[in-house]
Amino acid sequence: MSLPDASSTASDPASIAASSSASSSAELPWQRTARAAGLLGADGVARPTIFAEMSALAAERDALNLGQGFPDEDGPAEVLEAARQAISDGVNQYPPGRGIPVLRQAISDHQKRFRGLDWDADREVLVTAGATEALSASLLAFVDRGDDVVVIEPFYDSYAALVGLAGGRLVPVPARAPDFLPDPDELRAAVTDRTAVILINTPHNPTGTILPDATLQLIVELAEKHDAVIVSDEVYEHLVFERRHRSIGEFPGARGRAITVSSAAKTFSVTGWKIGWITAAPELVDAVLAVKQFLTYVGGAPFQPAVAVGLGLPEAYFRGEAEKLRARRDELTAALESVGFSVNRPGGSYFLVADGAPIGLHDGVVTARRLVDEVGVVGIPISAFTVPEHRADFASLLRFTFAKSAATVSAASRQLESFRP
Ligand code: PMP
Ligand code: GLN
Repeated sequence: MSLPDASSTASDPASIAASSSASSSAELPWQRTARAAGLLGADGVARPTIFAEMSALAAERDALNLGQGFPDEDGPAEVLEAARQAISDGVNQYPPGRGIPVLRQAISDHQKRFRGLDWDADREVLVTAGATEALSASLLAFVDRGDDVVVIEPFYDSYAALVGLAGGRLVPVPARAPDFLPDPDELRAAVTDRTAVILINTPHNPTGTILPDATLQLIVELAEKHDAVIVSDEVYEHLVFERRHRSIGEFPGARGRAITVSSAAKTFSVTGWKIGWITAAPELVDAVLAVKQFLTYVGGAPFQPAVAVGLGLPEAYFRGEAEKLRARRDELTAALESVGFSVNRPGGSYFLVADGAPIGLHDGVVTARRLVDEVGVVGIPISAFTVPEHRADFASLLRFTFAKSAATVSAASRQLESFRP
């Protein structure tokens, strides 16, 4: 496998995201899904995601993988041990549909401890198969054919795919370099009475941006005005470097209209466990559950009590994880800047954005290929997270993850420093 030519074709990794408006009504749902994600090839075959493709490339070329966002070291020992213990204790059959009570209580307690929010563990918490299922079930529950879904662009890949599957229309609001924040007036213009869902993500993948309080408040106001549901993807809630995370649920007017999504994956470095959850008002939880119970029904029985242990860890654990990542962000930033990339200073998440334009590198797909070939480091063109019509606006940008061990980030930084643009 290798990165494709710079000339943009349907099999270009930068074609990952496509507007669902491009889909034809004659298509089957799987085709709509793949097309919306920019993954339906000219041969009619659906290709793997940009993350799978880049991880395979890293393995094949023995390159350092700063592409797919997953840690290369284990999370807290007590959490891992709790999962082993749960298997030994026989927690191996279907858990309850809403999630094992001890985990639902831990989610509720965690929201109270960190966000000051009260969620009833029985009626306002739902455990899902990762944030991915939480997002899928929420969108399938609330997006009907032809409905608008407002997203901030660039966006995480599953958003466009799911809107495509639901038959909705993706309405991207750009978050442009260098600060990657949406313009309030563009948000106001994008949300209308046709909007079924406003789908946000803070801290943000792929840019690491944190939405300001004023933007979150505006989103709640727009959702109220146009009677839309807010789905707020907060999987990086603990990976914030300079300020505390604000959940959508903390803003007046959000209750009853916002579904907050989170996950154990990033907070406890267990991306393979696939334990996520939502917190929302009872009627929203019931609606999402009506779909969720036919997607996976339930999952991850022994991991559920283990995640409950994680959510109860002392504050120092959560702070420590963010501090580790902040140091790695800074090392990777310095390396990229030393060869002339301009780098954003992400407030959170696993990711930073490097711009090759100042050193004449205007095509991120070409730059990504050169970095693999010349210095053995994998990154992902940001154009992979946009609709095709907007690729040119993000063309020179690359996403790198710093959520790897200190040794991996250091080795990648030394290799990047040797790049000669
Ligand atoms: N949302 C965002 C913004 C992500 O980056 C990811 C990737 N981990 C997910 C959702 C999916 O999370 P999970 O692995 O819990 O399904
Ligand atoms: N969230 C991870 C990333 O953005 C990828 C997860 C996946 O491969 N679907 O890199």
